Amino acid sequence: MSSAAHQAKSSLTPDVVIIGGGVAGGALAVALARQNIRALVLEKTLEHQDRVRGEFMPPWGVEEAKKLGLFDVLLGAGGHFTKRNIPYGEDMSAQEAEARAIPLGKILPDIEGAMTFGHPQICGALNQAAVAAGATMLRGAGDLAVSPGRDPKVAFTHEGHRYEACPRLVVGADGRGSWTARQIGADVKFDPSHHLLSGLLIDGVHEWPEEDQSIGVEGDITFYVFPQGEGRIRLYACYGLDQRGRFSGPDNAQRFLDAFRLKSLPHADALSAGRPIGPCHGYPNGDTWIDTPVVPGVVLVGDAAGHNDPTIGQGLSISLRDSRHVVEALTSNADWTEDIFAPYVEERRERMRRLRFVAQLFSVLRVEFTDDARMRRRRALKRIGAEPRLALPFLATQKGPFSVPPETFEQKTWDQLLN
Ligand SMILES: Cc1cc2nc3c(=O)[nH]c(=O)nc-3n(C[C@H](O)[C@H](O)[C@H](O)COP(=O)(O)OP(=O)(O)OC[C@H]3O[C@@H](n4cnc5c(N)ncnc54)[C@H](O)[C@@H]3O)c2cc1C
Repeated sequence: MSSAAHQAKSSLTPDVVIIGGGVAGGALAVALARQNIRALVLEKTLEHQDRVRGEFMPPWGVEEAKKLGLFDVLLGAGGHFTKRNIPYGEDMSAQEAEARAIPLGKILPDIEGAMTFGHPQICGALNQAAVAAGATMLRGAGDLAVSPGRDPKVAFTHEGHRYEACPRLVVGADGRGSWTARQIGADVKFDPSHHLLSGLLIDGVHEWPEEDQSIGVEGDITFYVFPQGEGRIRLYACYGLDQRGRFSGPDNAQRFLDAFRLKSLPHADALSAGRPIGPCHGYPNGDTWIDTPVVPGVVLVGDAAGHNDPTIGQGLSISLRDSRHVVEALTSNADWTEDIFAPYVEERRERMRRLRFVAQLFSVLRVEFTDDARMRRRRALKRIGAEPRLALPFLATQKGPFSVPPETFEQKTWDQLLN
């Protein structure tokens, strides 16, 4: 870098510094830059890698992407629609599961279905779109020090030089275990783990219908099959805490694939013979949350503000909605005090409470594998058949957490389904 450029960078005055250029940070940077708000994105990595993250976005997330003007970016980066969710699994025959398929393209008006894609590709595409819209992106930024307050500051190292940025606002979008959240002393609450969740991306599976996804239970796993088009499929599996080492160590990808040799799953042999094209990583499930992800000068978005249990696949949609809130607050207020984020804080708190309720319900109902749990699942299926209202918590994960009545997320629903 020339010394003039270095000089110019060593004291930086963007409007907003965004820490983390993942889905939340990338989406926010595009939307801000398009509103002529000068954004500087500080991203730790030099290149986005497959870390086994979200690659499925339900219809309400696709709607959020449209509202943010990012739909074309997602499509251009390989966004692929799934149109049916088929509940294959031990509870019913394949024919019955197909008859009960949820038509994902009919959940919300003008939303073609759920969307799947590669997480690193989407982050990369959002970063490119942000730069094209006028944002500045520095990759390989490290040693961050955030000073909150009415005149916030971010010190960081880039390419061996130390800089200080003095923006009007700092946004922490640095994901799980956020460093920004720690630096501002955020009080992170968390659920105890209920189970583990692992994932693997495979290629070369042309037998599986590209517009069908499946989530189901057989034996001692809950399986997820999310096609991405052209024979690529993201697989996830949930399993008990007592099987912690099940998909770790050497040959873990093969053991993971072998777990998909399931009687209830069409094309199981083809899935198990898929070619791994990414790592096989696992994580404990569970939510984390921060009641007030805002302090003077700093706001947190996406996983940095607390993440929903990935078991129900909401994190990407949550991140997009968070980013939309921040853009709306900044574009409709001249003074960027912490008060302008009050609607965001209030909406997010309730949104995450609702999704936490569904994740816990889903975990007990669909990620337990004892005989009692199996009986409970069959009983719940019958109860939903008799009283469709009991399916509303699950509809909320497709249609959005505020699309169903608030009483959906009360103890009564839990008792009616599970007890
Ligand atoms: C196993 C698993 C499966 C999941 N499945 C789904 C799913 O199917 N659907 C769904 O919607 N969600 C799913 N999720 C959740 C989803 O991946 C996240 O909610 C989403 O990626 C959050 O986006 P983010 O931008 O907040 O965080 P991230 O995607 O984690 O991005 C954070 C960015 O910040 C950068 N960063 C981190 N620390 C620093 C630092 N100190 N300085 C600068 N940059 C930094 C990182 O390099 C990264 O680029 C899943 C999560 C897991 C773990």
